[in-house]
Amino acid sequence: MIMQEMPESGFEISADLVLLAMGFTNPAASVLGAFGAEHDARGNAKATTEGAQAYRTNVPGLYAAGDMRRGQSLVVWAIREGRQAARAVDAFLMGVSNLPR
Ligand SMILES: Cc1cc2nc3c(=O)[nH]c(=O)nc-3n(C[C@H](O)[C@H](O)[C@H](O)COP(=O)(O)OP(=O)(O)OC[C@H]3O[C@@H](n4cnc5c(N)ncnc54)[C@H](O)[C@@H]3O)c2cc1C
Repeated sequence: MIMQEMPESGFEISADLVLLAMGFTNPAASVLGAFGAEHDARGNAKATTEGAQAYRTNVPGLYAAGDMRRGQSLVVWAIREGRQAARAVDAFLMGVSNLPR
């Protein structure tokens, strides 16, 4: 998806407070770049979800889950990936993990 400004579609609304609920963009390239982390073709952190390398990026000790890895999605996926990534990190640090997958 490539967002484009629609010509002459602007309008004004009076408001005391404006909250920008912006999303559906990729993780900030500068953040991934600062770690030297690879990204996929869609600009998300590159990491698989299965096997011994689950949720690992190409940078040792750097893990990615949720929208950062998957791209814009749903809360349920973020929770699932967060839990699975926690297990992967636990196994990385402790050698084994008893956390549920
Ligand atoms: C407008 C909108 C509406 C949505 N509606 C729904 C819905 O109805 N139902 C649904 O299931 N999903 C919805 N989603 C999607 C859902 O919100 C996301 O899929 C989910 O929040 C992803 O969780 P996450 O933990 O992966 O990332 P996030 O919730 O985005 O958490 C990432 C966190 O990292 C922080 N962060 C970012 N950069 C840095 C940095 N440099 N240093 C430190 N912290 C940083 C951010 O502040 C944020 O707290 C919606 C999303 C948007 C934008």
